Amino acid sequence: MSYAAFSERLATVNDLLNALSILTWDSRTMMPPGGVESRSKQIATLTAAARDTLLADETRKATDAALREVSSLPEDDAKRRCVEQAAHAIAFHSRIPGALQKRRAELKTVANAAWIKARAQSDFSIFQPYLEQVVEVARAYADAIGYEKHPYDALMSIYEPGETAESLTTLFAALRAGIGPVLKAVTAAEQPRADFLERTYPVDRQHAFALKMAALIGYDLNRGRLDNTVHPFEISFTRNDVRITTRFYENYLPPSLFGALHEAGHGIYEQGVDPAYTRTPLATDLVGYYAVGGVSFGAHESQSRLYENHVGRSRAFWRLHFADLQKTFPEALHDVDHETFYRAVNRARPGYIRVEADELTYDFHIMLRTEIEKSLVDGSLAVKDLPEAWNAIIKSELGLVVPNDAKGVLQDIHWSTCQIGTFCNYTIGNVMAAQLMETARKTTPAIQAGLETGDYAPLQSWLAEHVHQHGRRFTRDELLVKSTGRALEPGPYIAYLRGKMADVYGVAV
Ligand code: ZN
Repeated sequence: MSYAAFSERLATVNDLLNALSILTWDSRTMMPPGGVESRSKQIATLTAAARDTLLADETRKATDAALREVSSLPEDDAKRRCVEQAAHAIAFHSRIPGALQKRRAELKTVANAAWIKARAQSDFSIFQPYLEQVVEVARAYADAIGYEKHPYDALMSIYEPGETAESLTTLFAALRAGIGPVLKAVTAAEQPRADFLERTYPVDRQHAFALKMAALIGYDLNRGRLDNTVHPFEISFTRNDVRITTRFYENYLPPSLFGALHEAGHGIYEQGVDPAYTRTPLATDLVGYYAVGGVSFGAHESQSRLYENHVGRSRAFWRLHFADLQKTFPEALHDVDHETFYRAVNRARPGYIRVEADELTYDFHIMLRTEIEKSLVDGSLAVKDLPEAWNAIIKSELGLVVPNDAKGVLQDIHWSTCQIGTFCNYTIGNVMAAQLMETARKTTPAIQAGLETGDYAPLQSWLAEHVHQHGRRFTRDELLVKSTGRALEPGPYIAYLRGKMADVYGVAV
């Protein structure tokens, strides 16, 4: 058995996962509603095939032999990391009993259907019995995976390896202390004018403009495309075919524009992975079963939030591109200038809904969900008491009275698809983006100069060098230490938010 045999087995797994992604992309963009049932069977079959290939004797033997072959290589050598990640994934999946996996897969479909109904009727009691099962399955998963301190640690290790319930508590306390006073100052200040965002913006012109902006910041259209979906997403079938979607509202401009910049950020990451890693474990999430090159959910989110907020919501961006936007929508923007537009797309105010939250209040939505998930998983909060607990936190954190379950506890899809432990990735992405930007700006003056003149290449090459090209070779914190000199820390993010809000609102924060 040689390293070549190992590579061939893992390349097959990667091909299967890419094929799976194509079926998923199609089901969310093009597939007619009648295709749902047969598609879910095709997806289940391919997922099982990927699992069977990964856990087959032949793969285990090839991986064991390859482990011996790479053991003398330096600890962070790409080849060695490849084999170690495959070995880790094999051990991980071997620990999950087949019956539990089957139960989770089946539960996803029925729980999601119940959630859709419950949300439509704004009635938590419809979803409650299913959520009780989702929590039960999550606990069983945590037990199977194994953990030292908190069952939540095991669940997070799937999406954000290295992060724990304890580390999140520390991070969130720092964010709360840093962002809270800024939110207070901004809430008391006069809100910028934003009425024009709700005028008429023809969808075909929105699509053309969003695509132009995505390409401008570095998303390669020769290896990508932009489509229209209800929930925006990015998905890749190797670095050579990376697709993004956004959503369009005729009477509200921001979602298409910032959705496209956000997803383009994810896309630029995938397109920038070292070509040598294609079809290897360094471009395959073997634990989560995704064909993805980014190192963790949080690291991925750092790239999308960076392009959406640090680039797309900056004053320089709109000083440079507002004239083009105004030319595209002359009727809607005839009485607006770039400064007014910049302030409008950065206004901050507490709301009930996470996906509509601004930069300043977004993390409060994440902290609330993470606290609730932790309590559900360790049993300190019962599912039946969830709506009451949710509403109490929204009142104390954001000062709002939740009008109904649909606008409260039922708003997110995650729990209905058995995902518990993923919300923190959004906040980790925000923190990581600011940390990377702070170092990029300090060390490489061409980046700031480029952002001021509309040349986004220096930023992209810095990110490619320090983040994108490495794929899954290093851990998230290894990447951060190599590029910024330290592991994840919230200082640069708090400083960024404070500076931004002082600028937008013209008040001391
Ligand atoms: Zn994202």
